Amino acid sequence: MTGTDLHQLSVAELAAQLRQKKVSAVEAAQHFLKRIHTHQGLAAFLALDEEATLAQARAADARLAAGDTAPLLGVPIAHKDIFVTRDFPSTAGSKMLTGYRSPFDATVVARLGQGAPDQGPGAGAVTLGKLSCDEFAMGSSNEAVAVPAVGLSMPTQVKNPWDSTRVPGGSSGGSAAAIAARLAPAATGTDTGGSIRQPASFCGITGIKPTYGRASRYGMIAYASSLDQAGPMARSAEDCALLLSALCGPDLDRDSTSLDIPGEDFSRGLNDKLDGLQNLRIGIPKEFFGAGLAADVRAAIDTALKQYEQLGAKLVEISLPRTELAIPVYYIIAPAEASSNLSRFDGVKFGHRAANYTDLLDMYKKSRSEGFGDEVQRRIMIGTYVLSHGYYDAYYLQAQKIRRMIADDFQNAFQQCDVIAGPVAPTVAWKIGGHGDDPVADYLADIYTLPGSLAGLPGMSLPVGFGEGGLPVGMQLIGNYLQEARLLNAAHRYQQATDFHLRTPAGF
Ligand code: GLN
Repeated sequence: MTGTDLHQLSVAELAAQLRQKKVSAVEAAQHFLKRIHTHQGLAAFLALDEEATLAQARAADARLAAGDTAPLLGVPIAHKDIFVTRDFPSTAGSKMLTGYRSPFDATVVARLGQGAPDQGPGAGAVTLGKLSCDEFAMGSSNEAVAVPAVGLSMPTQVKNPWDSTRVPGGSSGGSAAAIAARLAPAATGTDTGGSIRQPASFCGITGIKPTYGRASRYGMIAYASSLDQAGPMARSAEDCALLLSALCGPDLDRDSTSLDIPGEDFSRGLNDKLDGLQNLRIGIPKEFFGAGLAADVRAAIDTALKQYEQLGAKLVEISLPRTELAIPVYYIIAPAEASSNLSRFDGVKFGHRAANYTDLLDMYKKSRSEGFGDEVQRRIMIGTYVLSHGYYDAYYLQAQKIRRMIADDFQNAFQQCDVIAGPVAPTVAWKIGGHGDDPVADYLADIYTLPGSLAGLPGMSLPVGFGEGGLPVGMQLIGNYLQEARLLNAAHRYQQATDFHLRTPAGF
């Protein structure tokens, strides 16, 4: 393998080459940094710091030379800019946090990378930089990123590598675009209501959101705490399994919602035969295939489901009767939690402070008006409203009750099936600016990812074909609690039989 095609290697292949000393961590990092600079018009990254990356790579090379066999040692990856990092700025895509430097790494970053004093050595990945995202992870198109890039001269709108006039999806749009364009072999994302799955689908890559509580939220800048979950994004399920094994695990002292369940090796069961799972029963929720689903997306999903039947799976029709209610329920609960989480950004303890103000109240008002973008302000207002006296019972409490019913619907469905399959989004990636000033158009497009998020279930997206304009289509697989291994197995078996996950957009 020559240096010129290192970016074609999977994470597993690259890790093996590093262990065999066929390539050094410094060489691998330099190769990807060069590609990031060449393709900076994509605007996938918000911050680079070549010296910091190379210092991490040198440390990885030293560990490799000492015979350390950590699973991701020397593999370059990148992090969504919602995770705080010691070596790079952390902004959450917001002007509010411009110039912010964290004194510590998020648990997920430490586990994948260099570890932390009280957490052991880490899996050894090297950080290439920070990836663009919608401001505070609120969005579906990466159009709400509000900060300029550090260390690069690039526009702020991330482009879809398959068609630069299209959005990459969001809020982990930078992560998905970077992987699709081979600027990083893998990346982290976060998913509150679909932000790993939907950009993965729009950019033709693979991504998994684990069960709520599997991955620590410590150091993940909070959007909606009862929904936020970190997860890996990569080209294949096999690579996602490698990263997921490294990043999951209890973090009870730092995240009160962390599950007290030991880490798992998600790579182990990847090659199990589907028919070894007593004919995997795939539930097809009829509500996911209604009139709102575009014909091109439906066609790609139908073909993928036939392929699954050929692999030995059985399709079972199921019902998730409250699917439509997931939209209003999510867009009450998520803004409610956001309005509370974002109250810490007041220009005093954290965040941008207005230059001119008359008194304390005026300082809060001006700092927050200047620091937060439109979508974030909209959600803070909605959240404050639904939590306010007199409206709490009418909106927030009702939403919580329906959230429980949505979770119960899934448990009923899992009596009949092992995994649930359906579309990730109703359409392929839309045009940049295509939804105009209509935030509700974005909200409605989250219909298939929100129910699983509200229930806290693991879900993934895998590429299964192309639709209108040659744009990728992803299929969603949803599993019951802690069934990530089963999802990854089902996705991996499909990827052994197809090559959609290996297709590269023209020019990359
Ligand atoms: N599009 C959804 C929202 O805007 C989901 C975002 C996410 O998962 N972070 O809230």
